[in-house]
Amino acid sequence: MHQLTLAEIARGLADKKFSSEELTKVLLARIAQLDPQLNSFISLTEELALSQAKAADTRRANGESGALLGAPIAHKDLFCTQGIRTSCGSKMLDNFKAPYDATVVAKLAAAGAVTLGKTNMDEFAMGSANESSYYGAVKNPWNLEHVPGGSSGGSAAAVAARLLPAATGTDTGGSIRQPAALTNLTGLKPTYGRVSRWGMIAYASSLDQGGPLARTAEDCAILLQGMAGFDPNDSTSIDEPVPDYSASLNGSLQGLRIGVPKEYFSAGLDPRIAELIHNSVKELEKLGAVIKEISLPNMQHAIPAYYVIAPAEASSNLSRFDGVRFGHRCENPVNLIDLYKRSRGEGFGPEVQRRIMVGAYALSAGYYDAYYLKAQKIRRLIKNDFMAAFNEVDIILGPTTPNPAWKLGAKNSDPVAAYLEDVYTITANLAGLPGLSMPAGFVDGLPVGVQLLAPYFQEGRLLNVAHQYQLNTDWHTRTPTGF
Ligand code: GLN
Repeated sequence: MHQLTLAEIARGLADKKFSSEELTKVLLARIAQLDPQLNSFISLTEELALSQAKAADTRRANGESGALLGAPIAHKDLFCTQGIRTSCGSKMLDNFKAPYDATVVAKLAAAGAVTLGKTNMDEFAMGSANESSYYGAVKNPWNLEHVPGGSSGGSAAAVAARLLPAATGTDTGGSIRQPAALTNLTGLKPTYGRVSRWGMIAYASSLDQGGPLARTAEDCAILLQGMAGFDPNDSTSIDEPVPDYSASLNGSLQGLRIGVPKEYFSAGLDPRIAELIHNSVKELEKLGAVIKEISLPNMQHAIPAYYVIAPAEASSNLSRFDGVRFGHRCENPVNLIDLYKRSRGEGFGPEVQRRIMVGAYALSAGYYDAYYLKAQKIRRLIKNDFMAAFNEVDIILGPTTPNPAWKLGAKNSDPVAAYLEDVYTITANLAGLPGLSMPAGFVDGLPVGVQLLAPYFQEGRLLNVAHQYQLNTDWHTRTPTGF
């Protein structure tokens, strides 16, 4: 039963082949048995899951239907869950039980989804390897000596290992797409404003966006349908109708114009990944797509701009963790300054402290113009590059990451080496565009992802292309040995 996708589960539940309660019990047992190898969960919510599963079964028995009714999922541990620890992967929030549900959590629960638990993540979503978590590193089910990517690494490892069919993630600079690529999943970062950020613990508010991680585009469509929509509680949420994503899957790709940026194939890209990307292009050509070389001339400035803007926003957002209102408080403070200093010094790990310092520096008087303002100007140039490209093509295609998953610990002594892995993903966040990563093959037994980017609110187009690709390839069906 653990091999079923969300779409298959929905059919099985509708046909009364099994109940949500039965399925939930199978998956909880599987998590108990296999997760000790992976460390993909921070908290399990068995009681909640079983009561939600029973409630979903009752709703079905009373004639209700819906693709998410009784579907088991998990939430990245930065979505607030009422009465349940919401740690954000940090010692700072180890003792924090959220007083309310994030909009995404509430919407999915209302649709009947069953929450199995909260997944491990990089501390405050800062990282690309899931090694900065206070709860320990997550292992990649494809090779337990390798990282699963981050920051949504717990969600990715759990879904890839078939502990559950799908999970939520968030993507500030790639944290849905990159772990999806490194674990052979399909992951979608929606347009900025498509999914409410209310109750999502903020990292960099102008970049953060929640979205689905699943094995197939079909399942991403189902989960996104439950997450997307206007929320008056989020002032950056956009009041646009939500299309039927599942209905968009079956469009023909005949005549679809795919742009492949020449800058993507520079020296930093593993040539074996380049070859797999070219293979995926050929596959899409067979389905009727037309390929065009394009240029994104300002791409080279994206990493420096992102690693100014994201820490700047983080330094401001994380000032709320002061030892007074939320989370960790030091023992016996002698005065207020001592309380702040020691609570924050003890509560935040080294990567979070590094980002707060970089961000506070970039925002300080005298450096603001040189760093923050400059980075914002680059951000606009990057957006303009995309707008020009989308005048010529319908979709942009390239690698999701320059390398496959690296070994645990390999980049620990050099944070910038890890930052460079984000080169293909962060531009979509800087521009606010939707992006999707899907399985495209393997290098040394480790999965490789191909990334698709589309104009604003064209999530349906991304899902359509990915679904058609998945109907004609079988990379996404491969299962890691031992799981
Ligand atoms: N790796 C990027 C960072 O560390 C992106 C993280 C994310 O998307 N949350 O900032």
